Amino acid sequence: MAAALAAIRVGFDVTIFERASEIRAAGNILNLWPPPQKVLKLIGVDTRDLGAPCKVFFHNADGRQRAEVKLTPEVEREFGGGFIGLLRWGLYQRMLAALPPGTIRLDHNLTAIEDLGGSVRLDFANGETFDADVVIGADGINSAVRKSLWGDAPIRHQHLHLVGGYLFLDDAPDGIGVLSHNRTTQVSYTPIRHDGKWGYEWWVLEACDPADPPPADLIGFSRERAAGFPQKVRDLIAATPVEHMQRWEIRDRPPIPQWSKGRITLVGDAAHPTSPYAAYGAGMSIEDGYFLARELAAVDISDDAAVSGALQRYEDRRKPHTSRVSQEAYRTGRMFHHLPAPLRPVRDFVFDHTPFLQKMVGDEMPKHILSQLAEIEDADPYVPPHMKEKASAA
Ligand SMILES: Cc1cc2nc3c(=O)[nH]c(=O)nc-3n(C[C@H](O)[C@H](O)[C@H](O)COP(=O)(O)OP(=O)(O)OC[C@H]3O[C@@H](n4cnc5c(N)ncnc54)[C@H](O)[C@@H]3O)c2cc1C
Repeated sequence: MAAALAAIRVGFDVTIFERASEIRAAGNILNLWPPPQKVLKLIGVDTRDLGAPCKVFFHNADGRQRAEVKLTPEVEREFGGGFIGLLRWGLYQRMLAALPPGTIRLDHNLTAIEDLGGSVRLDFANGETFDADVVIGADGINSAVRKSLWGDAPIRHQHLHLVGGYLFLDDAPDGIGVLSHNRTTQVSYTPIRHDGKWGYEWWVLEACDPADPPPADLIGFSRERAAGFPQKVRDLIAATPVEHMQRWEIRDRPPIPQWSKGRITLVGDAAHPTSPYAAYGAGMSIEDGYFLARELAAVDISDDAAVSGALQRYEDRRKPHTSRVSQEAYRTGRMFHHLPAPLRPVRDFVFDHTPFLQKMVGDEMPKHILSQLAEIEDADPYVPPHMKEKASAA
């Protein structure tokens, strides 16, 4: 949707083909860094009150601070706190509202794709075909577009799983998010804002064997893992309705050297699936769409060489950033959950008593993410024509 909104903003006629027969969020909890928030605003998404702003800290399970994720005061001011917590559905609703009616065609499962030179032919399981000038594969970790361009490759199972949940509260949270680890497990929370309501999201993350059956009782599993962590997160877990909980196995893929071919390219998880350790996979998908639309807007879309040049410039710009983030997220997961048992006390001593973790996740990682902000133009937010009509009718 972000790629579509960005392309519409620069004047393209866009259709989104979605295999599902209804629009819903496949997950619940989400956090967004400032660069995707800035992009969302620029591509016409209403970001007012979209999430709960928070400052984020890394702690050990006893509550001792190990690192503070440092954004600059200017960024915190501009984005009402910087990092935000929200529900995925809340974001999707805002993006849907910004899309011109009829942009999404449901029940369109892409089965084949062929670059005809001058256009691209799409085949769908329902028997329909469609010819497009450019195709953007935004079809996730199991991307059919990626497979047709570059063949199949196995997914990287990180041997980690995550149970996450959320709840609403009457009072506004304190604006603090805490990511805590003991020797084996992460138990974390951040405030959320959704549909005018305050609350918290939390998650429990640890090593797993993908061959094992998933835990049958998510509440029991989460409570058990959170024993020994501070009371606040235990209370949040205890108060969460079971229908607000979900479990995921964490998977990604190592970076690939090339995304685009001819008139076809990839964005988001189709290009660079990323573990939630970065809290940035969705954010990078949003950024991809923005940078891609800018390159396409600058060329004659009927010129094959100009289009493939634009797609190449887009991916050359995006690959260093997205590979770094996804590989760092992978390594962080390994460091916290897959270190051999005898080394864990040494790791935790270093995290508790040296600035190592502060440098790594508190200073360097946000600095790198925030460097994206400078690359995103400072322009007035785009208001799509159907939203302008709505506003003038009102
Ligand atoms: C537990 C968890 C927590 C996370 N937390 C965060 C976070 O806090 N912040 C963050 O930024 N990121 C987070 N992420 C990562 C984020 O969810 C993903 O990076 C993001 O959803 C990728 O978006 P996407 O649009 O590229 O792919 P997807 O969200 O996978 O969407 C792909 C779409 O393509 C459709 N599709 C697939 N195949 C076809 C086909 N053949 N034909 C037609 N349609 C098709 C699918 O139905 C789907 O709608 C998290 C991920 C997980 C698992």
